[in-house]
Amino acid sequence: MGTIVLSELDPKFKYEVAEQPGGENIKVCFSCGLCTAGCPVSEIDENYNPRKIIHMVLLGMREQVLSSDFIWLCSLCYTCYAHCPQNVKFTDVMRALRTMAVKEGYVHPSFPDRIKEIDNLSQKLRQQMALSILRRKSEDASINPAELLAKASREVERAKSPVS
Ligand code: SF4
Ligand code: SF4
Repeated sequence: MGTIVLSELDPKFKYEVAEQPGGENIKVCFSCGLCTAGCPVSEIDENYNPRKIIHMVLLGMREQVLSSDFIWLCSLCYTCYAHCPQNVKFTDVMRALRTMAVKEGYVHPSFPDRIKEIDNLSQKLRQQMALSILRRKSEDASINPAELLAKASREVERAKSPVS
């Protein structure tokens, strides 16, 4: 979390997030951390922490949250949504924060579409990599991630090319 400057806190922020579609339940978070424990992005980036993002919203750290790269790193996978004992629906809160970040000019309006393209591409790459190792699913085989990725990229490019 960034430095907390009391004079910069916006007490209205959490209410505004709660007014957005999907943001309604943010105020009932009791900071248990189960969302972070199951998050696949937190697994690969220890600085990414859904519990902390919610805490920052509740504290009123508007500028720090809406300008943060973290709100765009979420893969919208809904794991935190399923784990939360308070039904905070953090995936929807994240969508609400993104909408606010666009509306308030923290990113260009085209930015969500660029993120969507990246999400689609990463799913296609994952699918091709999984298909590659599925061909040898009965063997105890090691994998070479770089080789798999290169092969998957070629497959995705091939699928994009018009059929001649
Ligand atoms: S799991 Fe739910 S209640 Fe627990 S910190 Fe995350 S959002 Fe808050
Ligand atoms: S929706 Fe986002 S914050 Fe929640 S578990 Fe998935 S990647 Fe993490």
